[in-house]
Amino acid sequence: MKICIIGGGLTGLVAAHLLSSKCDVNLFEKKIQAGGCLSSYHINNYWIEEYYHHCFSSDNFLFSLLATLNLKDQLEWINATSGYYVENTIYPLNTPTQILRYPYLSLFDKMKLAMLTIRSKNINVNELDHVSAEQFITESLGKTVYTSFFEPLLNSKFGENRKTISAAWLLSRIAIRSNRGISGEHLGYLKGGFHQLIEALEGSIQTKGGKIQLKSPVSKIRHLNEAWDVDGTTYDTIISTIPPQELERIGGPKCTNIPYQGAACMTIGLDREVTQGIYWLNMKDPAPYGAIISHTNFIPPERYGEHIVYLASYYSGKLPQNIDRQMFADFCHRFSVKKEEIHWTRMAVDPWAGPIYTLGYRSLIPTYEQNGLFMSGMFSFPNYPERSMDGAVRAGVEVAERITKVNDRE
Ligand SMILES: Cc1cc2nc3c(=O)[nH]c(=O)nc-3n(C[C@H](O)[C@H](O)[C@H](O)COP(=O)(O)OP(=O)(O)OC[C@H]3O[C@@H](n4cnc5c(N)ncnc54)[C@H](O)[C@@H]3O)c2cc1C
Repeated sequence: MKICIIGGGLTGLVAAHLLSSKCDVNLFEKKIQAGGCLSSYHINNYWIEEYYHHCFSSDNFLFSLLATLNLKDQLEWINATSGYYVENTIYPLNTPTQILRYPYLSLFDKMKLAMLTIRSKNINVNELDHVSAEQFITESLGKTVYTSFFEPLLNSKFGENRKTISAAWLLSRIAIRSNRGISGEHLGYLKGGFHQLIEALEGSIQTKGGKIQLKSPVSKIRHLNEAWDVDGTTYDTIISTIPPQELERIGGPKCTNIPYQGAACMTIGLDREVTQGIYWLNMKDPAPYGAIISHTNFIPPERYGEHIVYLASYYSGKLPQNIDRQMFADFCHRFSVKKEEIHWTRMAVDPWAGPIYTLGYRSLIPTYEQNGLFMSGMFSFPNYPERSMDGAVRAGVEVAERITKVNDRE
């Protein structure tokens, strides 16, 4: 069976890795390197993700892939601290004492919040697909908990779209992040960076005879009798991992639009740390970024010979003009960072960084297969109600299993 895979992100790479030994696999990636949202920069002598990444203790599909690729021993679990930036002050929110000291919620609100966190694991999130996060939190915990705690989180992640986000998304985030001990949350990272996962997948595909073509955007697909034409070459099957509306633009089936948002993320290498030891700092004060993620408050700076900080923002529609300059100026001013303390900056922008999990999102998810064209990726069920590395691995595994069944029948 001759298969065309569109997209060399994690989903496409996993599908190619599993199918290359049984089928004739050609993977096309439009960018100069594979990895998609999980691509990395090579700086000095190390690799660092273009967008901050960590994994969670429930990421079983990812762990089994890492084991197959002999990378599981590289996984390390580290205490990852978080906090809020409110009225020019950093509030760590990790230990019970720190949470009790946070002045923007009453003790009663904090207790209600703790109860919801405990309850979240037993809530069926699918049933909350049509309830907004704002409505759910306001009705169950009160307006103050929404405005003082959840609204900044939703704002940093979805901006203006925050009002349309379903409670399914929010509750699944609360459940996944409730695995915390007395000193905070433990998150996973691949020692040496997730770049190794991408490199190992590329190596495995090529060893098994699969082909990866970089700088090769697929521009036109056409359904033939029992086959597909992809830019002039005939394939038995296509696996598309790109957004359904992008697929439709190049000749794929008509689908309901999945709402997507873009990410604009500045990475900065610098002399010192600025967030008082906190890894993930949510901005409640207005700023051109929604969170500051100090990677080297998670992974020791000694491994890099410098400190690394991400300024994270999401956008809808057009990328805000001069966002990079605004982010940089705000960061330097807010944290009194001098120009000479900065070693380098890089800016990553992806207009298809993630679906917006609006009310009724489940009904937008496209049909899995149409005439031998399979759609699997960030937008499909394994990534509902949040996309992740684990979801991408699962999307790749599931589509490979379906195609293997078809291949075995023929
Ligand atoms: C800011 C940010 C932070 C994140 N942090 C985490 C985290 O901490 N933990 C976690 O688990 N997950 C995280 N994720 C999510 C995770 O990175 C993604 O879910 C996963 O990498 C998606 O993989 P994918 O292959 O489905 O999609 P993508 O990575 O989007 O891959 C799709 C690929 O298709 C290519 N493409 C598009 N059109 C064409 C075309 N016409 N022809 C050929 N190629 C094409 C694109 O260039 C891209 O490489 C984060 C994502 C972002 C954006």
